[in-house]
Amino acid sequence: MNEYQEKYVALKEAYTRSDGSAASVQALYEYKDYLEEQDAPEAKWVLVDVCETLELYKTAYETLLPLVQQTDRKAIRKLSRLLDLQGVGDRYALRRPEGGKERAARAALLAKLPRFRYHPDPLETGAFLTVDEAVTCECCGKPTQIYYDGPFYAIEDVGRFCPDCIASGKAAEKYGGAFQDDCSVGDGVDDPARLEELIHRTPGYHGWQQEFWRAHCGDYCAFVGYVGYRDLKQMGIVDEVLDDVIWEEWGEEPEKMLKSLSNGGSVQGYLFRCLHCGKHRLWVDCD
Ligand SMILES: [Zn+2]
Ligand SMILES: [Zn+2]
Repeated sequence: MNEYQEKYVALKEAYTRSDGSAASVQALYEYKDYLEEQDAPEAKWVLVDVCETLELYKTAYETLLPLVQQTDRKAIRKLSRLLDLQGVGDRYALRRPEGGKERAARAALLAKLPRFRYHPDPLETGAFLTVDEAVTCECCGKPTQIYYDGPFYAIEDVGRFCPDCIASGKAAEKYGGAFQDDCSVGDGVDDPARLEELIHRTPGYHGWQQEFWRAHCGDYCAFVGYVGYRDLKQMGIVDEVLDDVIWEEWGEEPEKMLKSLSNGGSVQGYLFRCLHCGKHRLWVDCD
C-alpha cells in the first residue's frame, strides 16, 4: 500500500465507524481537494476511490478514464461500473459539510444573481445550471450562461429561462405559466402576494410526483435541497424534522419512513427551512 492508499483506508474506516459523521465526510472531501492537486498517478487512482466513496460518480469516472490501459482488466471492470453510475452525475453525492472550491465558486456566482427568498441557493439545488456556451433565454431572447432547469407549468413547452426573467416575473407572465402549482402549497399563508411570489417569481424544484411547497409561521419556507436520511443525520436535524404535525397526516411511522429516505432513491426527501423560526421542514414522495 502506498501512502495515498493508507491515508484513504484510514479515512474510510473513520467514515464507516462513525456511520457517516459530518467530520468524517468533511475529512474525505478535504482529502479529495488535496489529491486533486497531486501529480503522481498513484494519487489519481486513490482520488477515484475517494470520489466513489463520496458518491461523486461522474467525477470518479472522469478521473479514472485517462488512467485505464487496455490490458488492465480490473480497471476496465471498475470503469464500466462507474460508467453506469455516472449517469446520475454528482447530484446525489454526500453533502459536503463545509468549504470547498466548488462551493466558493458557486457563492461568488450566486452573489451576482437576483435573490430568491423561497429558493435561496438555486445553484446548489441544481435549479439553475451553468454552461460555458451560452444558451438563449426563452423569455427575453438574450444569451445566458445560467439557465433554469426546473419545472414550469404552462401550455407551451418552454422553461429555459435566465434568472432575471424568473425574478422579474416576466417569464411567468409571458407564457401564463407557474413554477409551482398554487394548489400544492402549505396552509396558513394569508398574504396573497407571498403566493404570487412563490409561484410566479421563484424557481421550482423537481419531485418524483407533484411538488409540494411547505409553509410555516404564516409564510412559505425556503427550499434547501434534496435529501436522504444520511443528509438529515449529518446536518443534525433528524429530531427537528420528526417534530412536525405533518407526520400525523402521512400516517406513517415517522422514524421508519425517515430511515428509508435516500437521496436519488425511490423514497426522496425535500428539505425546507422556515424563513421566520428557522425550523427545517420535510416533504417526502416516492417514485
Ligand atoms: Zn431572460
Ligand atoms: Zn417557522
